[in-house]
Amino acid sequence: MSTQPVARWRNDLDPPGDEVRNLAVLGATGSIGGGVLDIVRRFPDRFRVLALAARSNVQRILDWFDVCRPAHVVMTDTEAASALADQVRRRCPGAEVEIHAGRESLIELVTLPEVDTVVSAMVGAAGLDPTYEALRHGKRVCLANKESLVIGGALFRAIPDHQRGTLIPVDSEHSALFQTLVGESRNAVRRLWLTASGGPFLHRDPKTFAAITPEEALRHPNWKMGPKITVDSATLINKGLEVIEAHFLFDWPVRDIEVVIHPQSIVHSMVEFIDGSFKAQLSTPDMRLPILYALTYPRRYPLDIPPWRPWQQEKLEFFPPDLNRFPCLKLAREAVEAGPTYPIVLNAANEVAVQAFLDTRLPFTGIPEVIRAALEAHRPEPLTDLEDVRRLDEAARRFSRRWIGTHT
Ligand code: NDP
Ligand code: MG
Repeated sequence: MSTQPVARWRNDLDPPGDEVRNLAVLGATGSIGGGVLDIVRRFPDRFRVLALAARSNVQRILDWFDVCRPAHVVMTDTEAASALADQVRRRCPGAEVEIHAGRESLIELVTLPEVDTVVSAMVGAAGLDPTYEALRHGKRVCLANKESLVIGGALFRAIPDHQRGTLIPVDSEHSALFQTLVGESRNAVRRLWLTASGGPFLHRDPKTFAAITPEEALRHPNWKMGPKITVDSATLINKGLEVIEAHFLFDWPVRDIEVVIHPQSIVHSMVEFIDGSFKAQLSTPDMRLPILYALTYPRRYPLDIPPWRPWQQEKLEFFPPDLNRFPCLKLAREAVEAGPTYPIVLNAANEVAVQAFLDTRLPFTGIPEVIRAALEAHRPEPLTDLEDVRRLDEAARRFSRRWIGTHT
């Protein structure tokens, strides 16, 4: 008797076997990096960690040594690199690890021939060069560092096909879109819908926004993340960056990327098809799921995060974003529509403004003001290589610092 299913579904990709993935993890000490460490701990036979990189957090790098023995570690902070070397000598005598210092080593790390998969999880524009080089050297790039795509998307797209590796999103919304698009034809898609939790100030009186403290902004209702993205979620520029990210990832027109507020963070994003159908990906909010998917795509591996149970879910709400309350979202849309250099300015101004807010040198309401001023002052220029991005990024940072200095 045949055991074939009566209804069969088509899969565009034949999942390959359970090959071992050889990883380089950038941003290994961060919130996403911690998720990767947990995955590696769960699947020791599937992942070999060859290389780690972070800025200065020696202690969290040592946590990795309890699980694996990387061959290379880069600390971009030179003092941290020597502190790590001391600690490794003391705690793991005999460990064969090369410890490198400085930013330049990041490129060497991601282009090591034995590395096939790079997790890009540094925060901010600093992730651009290694992410770009990893992709240009044919690696699988599991991309959490959305800023690199926001500012370098035009250049990522220009990498010739025969060189370009595979980029799989880790950002939960883009992972949801990616998971939903698998097996579907591009022509069948009408619109992409990004869900947004709305952050901690969704219902707060906007008249009190100027008094918001970093402590309040760092208390995200649904996700535990690094400080920069948590503040970005509170201003909603995170969703603006994600619109730009989706635009470059899927080569999708910005006008057909919608944002919908969904405070429960269960529906991670949706695709609307030309026949009116919607497909979505739902789960308990836990970044380990999109991290694992990006690492193992097109296969799925088992993951025992607390399962989502519809009957325990009191409600699932959806409503349009209030752009007056959250002007950053509008600024991001305008920036990407204005031309490829504007997202670089938007991102740089935001990074400077968020840091100033966290240092209590700028009120919460100053963040969109800095970004608006930087965008207004910008004059578009041709964008041909990473050097152009770097120059524009630095100029926008200088402008934003000066603006904050004179307006606060
Ligand atoms: P964290 O702040 O928790 O971690 C940042 C990581 O980047 C740390 O490992 C840090 O090292 C490293 N780092 C920072 N600056 C540098 C630098 N100049 N050179 C080298 N390494 C550096 O951030 P998250 O993990 O929250 O976020 C990482 C990225 O993933 C961001 O782009 C974010 O937008 C994106 N993302 C995060 C999500 C989340 O749930 N956290 C969800 C979706 C996207 P050190 O610790 O030593 O300073
Ligand atoms: Mg996201």
